[in-house]
Amino acid sequence: MPIIRTVSGLRHFLHRFSSDQSDVSGPSSTLIGQVGLVPTMGALHAGHLSLIQRARQENKCVIVSIFVNPLQFGDHEDLADYPQSWAQDQASCQEQGVDAIFAPSAETLLAHTPLTQVVPPVELTARLCGPHRPKHFTGVATIVLKLLNIVQPDRAYFGQKDAQQLAIIQRLVQDLNLEVTVVPCQLIREATGLALSSRNQYLTAQEVRQATILHHSLQAAQHTFHAGECDRNSILTTVAQTLAKEPQVKVEYIDLVDPTTLQPLEQITTQGLVALAAHVGSARLIDNMMLDARLPILAIDGPAGAGKSTVTRRCAQALGLQYLDTGAMYRAVAWLALEQQVEVSDTFAIAELVEQCNIELKPHPDPQQPPQVWVNQQEVTQAIRTSEVTAQVSAVAAQPPVREALVKQQQRLGRQGGIIAEGRDICTHVFPDAGLKIFLTASIQERARRRQQDLQDQNLPAQSKSELEGLIANRDQQDSQREFAPLRKAYDAVEINTDGMTIEQVIDQITTLYRQRFPAHP
Ligand code: AMP
Repeated sequence: MPIIRTVSGLRHFLHRFSSDQSDVSGPSSTLIGQVGLVPTMGALHAGHLSLIQRARQENKCVIVSIFVNPLQFGDHEDLADYPQSWAQDQASCQEQGVDAIFAPSAETLLAHTPLTQVVPPVELTARLCGPHRPKHFTGVATIVLKLLNIVQPDRAYFGQKDAQQLAIIQRLVQDLNLEVTVVPCQLIREATGLALSSRNQYLTAQEVRQATILHHSLQAAQHTFHAGECDRNSILTTVAQTLAKEPQVKVEYIDLVDPTTLQPLEQITTQGLVALAAHVGSARLIDNMMLDARLPILAIDGPAGAGKSTVTRRCAQALGLQYLDTGAMYRAVAWLALEQQVEVSDTFAIAELVEQCNIELKPHPDPQQPPQVWVNQQEVTQAIRTSEVTAQVSAVAAQPPVREALVKQQQRLGRQGGIIAEGRDICTHVFPDAGLKIFLTASIQERARRRQQDLQDQNLPAQSKSELEGLIANRDQQDSQREFAPLRKAYDAVEINTDGMTIEQVIDQITTLYRQRFPAHP
């Protein structure tokens, strides 16, 4: 595993990697990204390793950057003493199958002074750590942007541990139109609940024990929230009262904010982030917890013909979740193209059109009926089901800009929670943070048998079993090798093989899993 110190060395490495890829013949990979980047300041612990593992599962090439960024330290902070464990970090990266470590020197990344810097919007830095670390987030945003420009990854991994940093980077990527997917990764804790941090090394054994109160205070807030208290005062008072039990812990701030805008929240209606910072001994520690009032998302993918759409509709009814009919959304775009007389083959015009196509799905008053579909404030529930639309929809859906725009709209609709959705890459790409992911599958033989039965039931011309098996195997191969939205099982999806199961048994298994995982919900 090479250790790369210079920008040109890194570019050369990536260039060689991509030309090696284009030489490879045979089936293309089913991973989501080509290059995944995990930016760190070294002194790697299990929190960092969880990001690296996720990147390893999702990308062909994983780069870990190790750079202790002087720009993000204040004058009286711990830059000179920041923990380092270079040999151990190399061994850990090697063990995790990292392709290269990018460890530039400060001279390499900060060649010019003064440097061009990226200043995040003041709304995102005016609270939480911002006022206590005045230049910190400008330093972080500047170096992260440099790393993203140098590595040009498809996916970059950041921990929820640094929730304010994560929100700022997500905003940076949007505001500067960067072509990278930011992947938020779960906060990893010690068995005691203490959030893993390189700075925990500064703590004595006694201080470690004292510091566990940070997590306990957040757990207390969670209990308060689960008991039905959603307002700022109750939640923050609970945290403060718990922290007061450990006088050696000097609280810097406690706040309740919206996790995306970082604006203070008076009431949690969807999601709230409780965040705090405190000094314990010589260490400044941060911690946070997401409080979620939304119903979880249930996402179902898997190969064609495994029964996804029937199962999804029936589970929506059984669990009282809103069915996100992604197929209807593609139909809506096809309808708009017809309406505005845009040729499907005119891919630029279609790309522009989809940007101006605002789709709403509203539950039908009769829960047995599919949701009502609205495009730019016009109801089109029936209009999108005509044969003209049916004839256009696959050609429209195959266009990458249409997929990209609709994935964004699906994610926007998903923000309210409480939805169920199916689609080829719904777990891996559209809702990677869904509360429950199901990979619904069945053997080729079983799917051929079901298809044969369907043909018979609909009085359509019969096809032999071996012919159908060949078609299905082909379709599986095509679907898993698509450049856009390949079929792939998410690493944390529950696989259900429906061979020999009835629809009722499948629905029963999924609804049971959902209720076990979310006992507080219906
Ligand atoms: P750092 O080395 O502290 O700059 O952290 C590098 C990345 O690891 C950041 O995206 C952090 O949010 C993430 N990280 C640090 N600690 C944890 C943790 N305990 N759990 C999850 N991610 C973490």
